[in-house]
Amino acid sequence: MKPYDPTIESALDAVRVRFRGELLEPDDPSYDEQRKLFNACHDQRPALIARCAGTADVVAAVRYATSNGLEIAVKSQGRHMAGFASADGGVVIDLAPMRSVKVDPKEQTAWVQTGANGADLEAATLVHGLGAVVGAATSTGVGGVVLHGGIGWMSPKLGWGVDTILEAEVVTADGSVLRAAPDENPDLFWALRGEAANFGVVTWIKMKLHPIGPMLAGGLIYDGAEAGEILRFLREFNLSASGDFTLMLDFLPAPAEDWIPEHLHGKLVLSVTVVHVGDDLERGRKDVQPLLDAFPPAVGELGERELLEFMLSMDADYPAVRQWYDEEQVGELTDEVIDTVVGQARLLAERGLTGYLIMYSYRGALADVPDDPGCFPRGRRGAWSIGTAAFWEDASGDEAHASWSDETIEAVRRTGATTGIVYGNVQQVPDVERHRKAHGDEAWARLRAVKKQYDPENVFHRNHNIPPA
Ligand SMILES: Cc1cc2nc3c(=O)[nH]c(=O)nc-3n(C[C@H](O)[C@H](O)[C@H](O)COP(=O)(O)OP(=O)(O)OC[C@H]3O[C@@H](n4cnc5c(N)ncnc54)[C@H](O)[C@@H]3O)c2cc1C
Repeated sequence: MKPYDPTIESALDAVRVRFRGELLEPDDPSYDEQRKLFNACHDQRPALIARCAGTADVVAAVRYATSNGLEIAVKSQGRHMAGFASADGGVVIDLAPMRSVKVDPKEQTAWVQTGANGADLEAATLVHGLGAVVGAATSTGVGGVVLHGGIGWMSPKLGWGVDTILEAEVVTADGSVLRAAPDENPDLFWALRGEAANFGVVTWIKMKLHPIGPMLAGGLIYDGAEAGEILRFLREFNLSASGDFTLMLDFLPAPAEDWIPEHLHGKLVLSVTVVHVGDDLERGRKDVQPLLDAFPPAVGELGERELLEFMLSMDADYPAVRQWYDEEQVGELTDEVIDTVVGQARLLAERGLTGYLIMYSYRGALADVPDDPGCFPRGRRGAWSIGTAAFWEDASGDEAHASWSDETIEAVRRTGATTGIVYGNVQQVPDVERHRKAHGDEAWARLRAVKKQYDPENVFHRNHNIPPA
């Protein structure tokens, strides 16, 4: 047996000898680059960034942090607006180097490491003619998006990303590596699908994939003056039309770009992004035609696109600057809700703010509840999510953008149409009471019991937290 190595002087040195990834401390040249989060409002300085190369590294990092009383932050791609993925003086368990995707084309499944982003996932699956449900842009991490919801372009047809998880490997607070699946640790498996951040570090998930044919996609830009009429049309059309396509609505001040008619520059516009993922382009056109007939856009058209290329084109719409997001869900699109949304969206242009007011509805598979659902709270058919996504460069814009977001969410609440369900992935400010309401009393009690079993000391608390029972 090898004699004890006297150079192993500290607990961190003991980790270093077994760690296959990188351990970055504040004096490391790449520390500042690696500690950055996507939302530039956050500027934490962790004591250690553990860039993990695999499950064993995650175990070593969890054990090091817990045995030295250091706060843990888990990071996939660091896109959560709340800045959960870092902690001042803590240990960042950085999964970004863990991005393997192993596809089984016959079974139409993939084992995915949770540091992968949307591009890693779709690039690996599309070569087999298969697609996975992940976010609309490519940059968000599987660990954040898919484990805690995951709405993407295929969602009205295929549902939420979280519903495509078949099993998971997870490192829990005591450093154990567990399998969570319907036939093993089923309570943990239920809780991971919606609230993984509270229960451990999920290292791998097995996801169901789906055949993807040609896609009809594009953006339609409308003068904001028409927005009220379009929303009244969409509240019916959304429910009657096929679930094979997504309608994602963004209100924004039109940029002064050549492709946008000059008379709209700086004015409020409504951008309707349409993505049809059936395998028949002609049927896609027929499905969407009633919208085009009723409301010909000021500019924009639909054409055949490839999923990954379309997702990549979305990345530029979300710059890594200062940001403020929030969301409320309404059970239906009443006239009062429509007037509120249009009025609040108009303020973006009037106040010279940058960002979007975003809407999508629970239609098709987005509103379906699978046979074995996880704990993820979702909307009923016909419900709409109304979200704010403000972004700006200079700290002097903080107050104006955050106030617009807060006012908008308050105004939506005052309509009395909200359901209390909120999508944690876009909720910037942690609020335990709001979180409890979204789950409902029964699921909340079960979540707290599972939390007590797997993380009684609340080691994993940089998240929308569930206090242990
Ligand atoms: C540009 C942009 C576009 C977006 N578009 C969409 C969209 O189209 N659809 C959608 O649904 N959402 C979208 N979102 C919201 C997105 O779902 C969240 O921001 C999500 O948290 C990002 O995941 P991440 O892994 O990059 O974030 P991180 O900040 O790395 O992680 C988010 C949370 O999950 C935890 N976590 C991460 N990995 C793991 C793991 N393996 N095990 C346990 N816990 C983990 C973290 O600790 C943290 O609490 C978008 C966000 C941005 C910034």
